[in-house]
Amino acid sequence: AKEPVRVLVTGAAGQIGYALVPMIARGVMLGTDQPVILHMLDIPPAAEALNGVKMELVDAAFPLLKGVVATTDVVEACTGVNVAVMVGGFPRKEGMERKDVMSKNVSIYKSQASALEKHAAANCKVLVVANPANTNALILKEFAPSISEKNITCLTRLDHNRALGQISERLSVQVSDVKNVIIWGNHSSSQYPDVNHATVKTPAGEKPVRELVKDDEWLNAEFITTVQQRGAAIIKARKLSSALSAASSACDHIRDWVLGTPEGTWVSMGVYSDGSYNVPAGLIYSFPVTCQNGEWKIVQGLSIDEFSRKKLDLTADELSEEKALAYSCLS
Ligand code: NDP
Repeated sequence: AKEPVRVLVTGAAGQIGYALVPMIARGVMLGTDQPVILHMLDIPPAAEALNGVKMELVDAAFPLLKGVVATTDVVEACTGVNVAVMVGGFPRKEGMERKDVMSKNVSIYKSQASALEKHAAANCKVLVVANPANTNALILKEFAPSISEKNITCLTRLDHNRALGQISERLSVQVSDVKNVIIWGNHSSSQYPDVNHATVKTPAGEKPVRELVKDDEWLNAEFITTVQQRGAAIIKARKLSSALSAASSACDHIRDWVLGTPEGTWVSMGVYSDGSYNVPAGLIYSFPVTCQNGEWKIVQGLSIDEFSRKKLDLTADELSEEKALAYSCLS
């Protein structure tokens, strides 16, 4: 039998956490043959709710779940973890300045970075979900210098999946037949959902999405804004932010990273930029990646037209500004 993998979820008493932990315990993230031990962290005001989640995990009697740690102690939470999903963060409240939210998150991610660096298992893979996700991941990287930059990522898979979903709805095809959309840049409304290399599996072989949709105007405008603003549309409808889709895409992100992407398919992940596609090095930026043997690699050589170039630069500029703001909070 396989050794259990320890998975940390921070902000585990929150709504994404509540959707995410049962998925992990069922093997959605790491495979249905992979036992897991869940480490759940939250802040003291949420301790009682967190204990309630732990009780429900016990009650669900998941065969793969070999243990649950529920704690408000960062060191205890981080000790020995192989995978860390960082969902906890300070939400932006009405009337708060961007700088105030950034400063709260910088201090959270700084302290959690140190705890992970000192106490997580070697080669721990980190996924940041909490917003501003890219910049929180960058702060984590800065304050955990011994964790390889290859192991620090942020979530844009929800945006990627939303783009697949929109194409599948528009063409009335199965979402599993659509692939290779790309989310470039920031997990914010400046992100660029790009369908220029996306295809659909048809009885006559793989066809480009643009050829099938036959409506560049829709693809260049409404499709993009729908994906960019889907989070807000869900809040409007549900009076709560997206949680099940965020949790599901976090599982997709880790599963593909650990177990690999299928041949010929790429996914979007926020990763440390090496300057590919002239994106400034040193930002956490969402790129198309393939994964093999537990490592991601940025897909190279895709053509970028003028329309796309502007959008790639715009979202990079926003990330550079966020980075500057985050650094100003440090001093
Ligand atoms: P959620 O579980 O709904 O969201 C958690 C984080 O994920 C937020 O930062 C949210 O950003 C972000 N997020 C990223 N992508 C998405 C997406 N597509 N849809 C929705 N959210 C997304 O928040 P809750 O308030 O329910 O739970 C947060 C938990 O974190 C609480 O249990 C709280 O106690 C804990 N917490 C921990 C702190 C710490 O570790 N020091 C500090 C503060 C809270 P956005 O805010 O933009 O929606």
